[in-house]
Amino acid sequence: MNRRAIPDDLAERILAGERRALARAVTLVESTRPEDRAQATALLERLRGHPESGGRQALRIGLSGTPGVGKSTFIEAFGMALVAQGLKVAVLAVDPSSTRSGGSILGDKTRMEQLSRAPAAFIRPSPSLSHLGGVSRRTREAVALCEAAGFDVVLIETVGVGQSETMVAEMCDLFVLLLAPAGGDELQGVKRGIMEMADIILVNKADGELKSAATRTCADYAGALRLLRKRPQDPDGFPKALPVSAYTGEGLDRAWDEMQTLAKWRKDHGWWDKARAGQAAHWFAQEVREGLLARLRGDADVRAAMAERAAAVAKGEVSPDAAAEEMLEWLKG
Ligand code: GDP
Repeated sequence: MNRRAIPDDLAERILAGERRALARAVTLVESTRPEDRAQATALLERLRGHPESGGRQALRIGLSGTPGVGKSTFIEAFGMALVAQGLKVAVLAVDPSSTRSGGSILGDKTRMEQLSRAPAAFIRPSPSLSHLGGVSRRTREAVALCEAAGFDVVLIETVGVGQSETMVAEMCDLFVLLLAPAGGDELQGVKRGIMEMADIILVNKADGELKSAATRTCADYAGALRLLRKRPQDPDGFPKALPVSAYTGEGLDRAWDEMQTLAKWRKDHGWWDKARAGQAAHWFAQEVREGLLARLRGDADVRAAMAERAAAVAKGEVSPDAAAEEMLEWLKG
């Protein structure tokens, strides 16, 4: 990131909803330089403790779908519909480098041309060449920054490859899966785990020739969803499958209504706070685990002790389990 000192009033400017300040802060949380990390942590704590930001909560929506299903077209149309209602919308992309060739899915802002120009919207591409752990922390912190900046809705977009969905589901209030109408009568090759995470399935491209296929696909998925999942945090009728068209805009209002209904129900029944508290605990444990591992990897004595035992295991002198046990004992001592 650029080396200019972080301005003293950055927190205040974020709280005032200034997009440039927000962009600057997101760049700061993306940095892995230790001095930037320290500043990022301090900034986030300051925002958290600030009386103005304390109560601000956005609706965090995870949005997943395989490439080509229409995510960017949908986000553009859906985001513009929310903006037209006077809402502030942030879009963050989660794109671990392993899933694409080092590029960023939102790197090209022309993907969401109108939304990226809307004053009430903030679109942030995924930093390229980052690993899942880094992406997860950066995304959580960016979400926190968007909430402090007063965004009403934060869409977290992911590409449908499994691991990143699990991560996104742990940082959002609702998880939406975007699908395309199925050609045949079989369900598409959606991983069961991703289906189970979905609160709402939107079958996109429900327009023109595809409309009737979309309706059929919805019925198939609605049935499958009910068999897959019934949780106490789902009111009657959820999870749901609905047809939408990002092209014509049909179904977008209904989709938004359903998202709000579900969010409100979970708030009213205590699930919202419970889920957020559980997520915070999850990320705390995760950060401690990752921090410990990073510390161990950075320690030359530990590396030497590991290498010695790994060599003994490779030669068959000791079993992997016995060697691991011994290594753990060594670490304790
Ligand atoms: P992404 O890879 O998931 O971001 O998908 P895109 O938004 O780039 O869309 C992939 C293709 O589907 C493009 O050719 C879009 O024009 C098309 N598409 C997206 N939404 C719709 C829709 O609602 N109806 C139809 N018929 N096509 C759509």
